[in-house]
Order: sequence, then C-alpha cells, then structure tokens
Amino acid sequence: KLVSKKWKAKPTSVDLGDGIFIKEGEMAVITGPCSIETEEQIRAVVAHCVENDIKMMRGGVFKPRSSPYAFRGLGLDGLKLWHQIASEAGIKIVTEVMQTSQIEEMYPYVDVYQVGARNSQNFNLLDELGKVDKAVMIKRGISGTIEELLQSAEYVFSGGNEKLILCERGIRTYERASRNTLDLNAIPILKAKSHLPVIVDPSHGIGIRAYVPQMALAGVMSGADGIIYESHEVPEKAYSDGQQTLDFAQSARLASWIRESFAMR
Ligand code: PEP
Ligand code: MN
Repeated sequence: KLVSKKWKAKPTSVDLGDGIFIKEGEMAVITGPCSIETEEQIRAVVAHCVENDIKMMRGGVFKPRSSPYAFRGLGLDGLKLWHQIASEAGIKIVTEVMQTSQIEEMYPYVDVYQVGARNSQNFNLLDELGKVDKAVMIKRGISGTIEELLQSAEYVFSGGNEKLILCERGIRTYERASRNTLDLNAIPILKAKSHLPVIVDPSHGIGIRAYVPQMALAGVMSGADGIIYESHEVPEKAYSDGQQTLDFAQSARLASWIRESFAMR
C-alpha cells in the first residue's frame, strides 16, 4: 500500500501554509466547537485560539446527526463567515465534508477537509478527495478496523492527494459507560504501519467532558502527532456534543498540558 511505511519510510508532513504543519515531531493542537453556531461564537473561539497559540480550529458546518431533527449546521454561509474571521487571525480551518458536491464549494474556505466517522468508507467521497490539492483528515469508522482506516486513506492517497492525516476517534464496542471506546492501541500501530500523521480525538473518543483531558494526554503519550478536541465558550449551551466539550479555561489548561507532555515524550 502507498500509505504504508514499507512504501515510504519518511514520515509525511502536511503543510497547511504560513508555517503551520501537521507532522511527526510537532504536536498539532486543534480545537473548537462541535458545530459552528453563530458569529459571536466564532469570534469567541478564534480569540481563544489566538490567546493560547492554537493555530487550527475545528467546527462543523455540515453536521452528520443521528436524528434528522437535530441541528444540522450553518452550511456554506457559516463556513464563509468563519473563514473570514479565522483567516484574519491566521487560524486554519478543519471542517467536515459530507458529500462530493460540497468539495468544490468548500474549497476556497477550508484548510483541512474532515471525513467523519460515518463517511469513513464513503468511497466515492474518498475518490473525489484524492483529486483535490488540499489536506484531508480521515476519521476512523464507527466500527472500523485499523486496516479499514488505512484502506480508506489508500483511496485518497492513490488518487494523488498525499496531504493526508489519520484520526482515531473511538470505536463502538459493547461498553456503554462511555460514548465510544478510544482505541489508544491504534496510535502506535498506525504510526508503525503508516508514514501518515496520526491525530487523536478524545472528545468523541470518550464523550465525557471531565475525562477528555486525561485521554488527550494519554493520546500524546501513545505517540500521536496531534490532538483535536471540542471547546466552546459555554459548553452547556452548545448546539451539539456539549457533554464532551471543554470550556475555555479547561481548554487553555489542556493545551499547555499537551505541549508540556509532548516536550517530555
Ligand atoms: C465531529 O468531529 O464533530 C464529528 C461528528 O466526529 P465523528 O465523525 O468522529 O463522529
Ligand atoms: Mn462533535
């Protein structure tokens, strides 16, 4: 496989421009709300990122919701507004693309296309993202194996797009005490098998706000190249995933712990 270390020994470095990289040897910190909600919220999170030297912001404008009646995102208009505010502050945008028809319209406003867990094996979407000259982060499927994640990455890489990032976000197991089971095992295994950078999402991985920081740190110590977690100015009021979202004080503390732990690794 092209994404395997056997094919390419040198770790892949994903260049987002302006000196911002997702790559082995650095610790990428990505935070932001589950959903992009309002202009005030975008401004608050961008300011939080700037204050804490966080260069990449996450947020969904197209939301894959289990219920069709739940908030489904601000769509392209929300992304345009977000891009305007974030780019002025030098913050890169990580956001989910749900279908092939969105790739082109999102292109001018996105820095990393996120492929969500539910679309991890949407092979048409992966094929089309393989033709794009922009970074792609693929999340592990809800019940996806490590091998299936690597196969999904192979679709994009073999299409010609080598700006690829893998993300462990927890898998569905028999355990119901946590939202998902964050598979820390996947991190050293993915790092050993592939030259691609590996990011951990402890927010969806455990789904419980109080435990997100320790799982993020466990991810750092497991060898991850970056962390993506949810934060919001008032998590209790978030339109989605508030129960696993950090407030800004918690997020600021976590970002510095992540950097300290990484420095000690
Ligand atoms: C998200 O990042 O908000 C999200 C929907 O993640 P996942 O696809 O991992 O469930
Ligand atoms: Mn979420």
